[in-house]
Amino acid sequence: MKLRVVKNILEANDRIALSNRERFKKAGVFVVNIMSAPGAGKTSLLEKTISRLNGRLRAGVIEGDIVGTEDAERLEKLGIPVVQINTQGACHLDANMIGEVLDDLPLNDLEILFIENVGNLVCPAEFNVGEDIKVMLLSITEGDDKPSKYPLMFKESSALILNKIDLAPYLDVNIERIKQDSLRINPQLKIFEVSCKKEKGIDDWVSWLLHVRDTVLKLS
Ligand code: MG
Repeated sequence: MKLRVVKNILEANDRIALSNRERFKKAGVFVVNIMSAPGAGKTSLLEKTISRLNGRLRAGVIEGDIVGTEDAERLEKLGIPVVQINTQGACHLDANMIGEVLDDLPLNDLEILFIENVGNLVCPAEFNVGEDIKVMLLSITEGDDKPSKYPLMFKESSALILNKIDLAPYLDVNIERIKQDSLRINPQLKIFEVSCKKEKGIDDWVSWLLHVRDTVLKLS
């Protein structure tokens, strides 16, 4: 009985995700769902990424948090449209929440839309919201056991960004183990070593993102 309820919720979610997807397609906007545990650096990555896209692609952000507007305020400083969703306790964004705020964005004017999911390593990976790709961040301070403990997010993502790579000399973390375990779960996963703080690896990630956007928009 319990299982059936969960399944129905996910089915309803997928239906709404499809209708979001249709709207994104019609608007010609490429949508990236960014997921990670709290504090891995999603907002910092968006700041660095959107600064580099400025003047090349018109970007917008949907910001997901349980409460508060701190991250949305940081991103608004980049001069782009930002919509904040407060989930009031829910640990992830779902397709319905995204669908509800789409009228608050100038969707037809956007070329790329980032969705910053609620910080959580489990639930966000279970809900499609109509995105083109999911991207996962893992701060190397979280440890090298995360792929084996939380495989779904690694499985669902197109790219894995290993953030705070500048801290590697100070940590007992095995970066090779993270990479190998992640690739075992998802052989297609593209992995970037990044430091948002030291501006390392951002250009490679942004070039990859632009390339994937071109490919996906041509195909659809
Ligand atoms: Mg954030």
